[in-house]
Amino acid sequence: MKILVINAGSSSLKYQLIDMETEKAVAKGGCERIGIEGSFLKHKANGKEIVIETPMPDHKVAVKLVLDALVDKEHGAISSMKEIDAVGHRVVHSGEDFDKSVLITPEVLETIASNAELAPLHQPANITGINACRAIMPSTPMVAVFDTAFHSTMPDYAYMYAVPYEAYKNYKIRRYGFHGSSHLFVSDEAAKYLGKPKSQLKIVTCHLGNGSSISAVDCGKCVDTSMGFTPLAGVPMGTRSGDIDPAVVEFLETKTGMTTAEVINYLNKKSGMMGISGVSSDFRDLSAASASGNDRARLALDMFAYSTKKYVGAYAAAMGGIDCLVFTAGIGENDSFIREKVTDGLGFLGISIDKQENARRTGDIHDITAAGGKVRVLVIPTNEELVIARDTARLALGK
Ligand code: AMP
Repeated sequence: MKILVINAGSSSLKYQLIDMETEKAVAKGGCERIGIEGSFLKHKANGKEIVIETPMPDHKVAVKLVLDALVDKEHGAISSMKEIDAVGHRVVHSGEDFDKSVLITPEVLETIASNAELAPLHQPANITGINACRAIMPSTPMVAVFDTAFHSTMPDYAYMYAVPYEAYKNYKIRRYGFHGSSHLFVSDEAAKYLGKPKSQLKIVTCHLGNGSSISAVDCGKCVDTSMGFTPLAGVPMGTRSGDIDPAVVEFLETKTGMTTAEVINYLNKKSGMMGISGVSSDFRDLSAASASGNDRARLALDMFAYSTKKYVGAYAAAMGGIDCLVFTAGIGENDSFIREKVTDGLGFLGISIDKQENARRTGDIHDITAAGGKVRVLVIPTNEELVIARDTARLALGK
């Protein structure tokens, strides 16, 4: 059985074709610059990568190109489109309408569209991707897997903001959380690795990548998460500010003459590691700059690690303890310096890591707990596409 996983952005479309027998991708790639001059498809299968430069005026053309590449005699991974049993779509926002993945019907698509204002940059692109696939593969079942769904189990006192209740009732203003598939995947993997039922574990999952979020997972259920109404909240990120006092928005408008939209863009695209360091949003560049004496790069890294550490402590308190701390995503999986800084000084919670083990790179689940450490500290490669493929196989095909 093969599942095609689609992650559509406004001008991009990433895909993986996953063989569910092995749970491995047999082909993957992406279309970039859809609707813009200079569009191209990068496609990888059978250990080879090809790049096709061709006009892609819209997502429908992009989907057709992806399918052609998948069945291509030379570069493909399947002999006909019929081998694609179902398609799983990453959809950013479920609003309060879905608490789990769902088989896509016209009614479901309408509800997804009604939540587009909650994620105006991403949701319309996700819908475009779904429509493009439905137009080309009308009889293939499709499933929507939401970034927010895993967080739907948060208690009301964790997801509510202390704004007048009508703002929640009328406009759905609340914490939603994002990266749900990743937090779900790594917390499940941690339980499997530790050989314990989820019902016996309090886990803090740190998804640290270009966008970063931390979640508290108690008995397999998310009880709190650092991102909020949008993915701008929480720890400082590559170019996002993370949590700030909202009064800063108006103050900046007054001081600089920026509009509200411009300030929000400033907080999303010009802030975080990039804004503080003036060097880069990439942690590899920041580490190199800091090592060669750049104090603003040092400051950016210190702020990131400090903020992450505060969430770990807060979530241990929220759950009344912590059994396992997980690091995942680009930074969490690769940056041993950040893992060391985040865990430094958390011995009072039972968190301490083996520095030599932490410095070792395995590419697989990696236990970096110090000898005698009460809290197991794990590095776990995330796999959001596999979560999407598994849900798709279950809902579309009953597998
Ligand atoms: P993601 O969004 O999960 O793909 O993570 C991307 C980010 O991970 C990049 O912007 C880098 O900051 C970081 N990253 C990737 N590889 C490394 C590495 N080897 N060392 C440190 N940071 C890394």
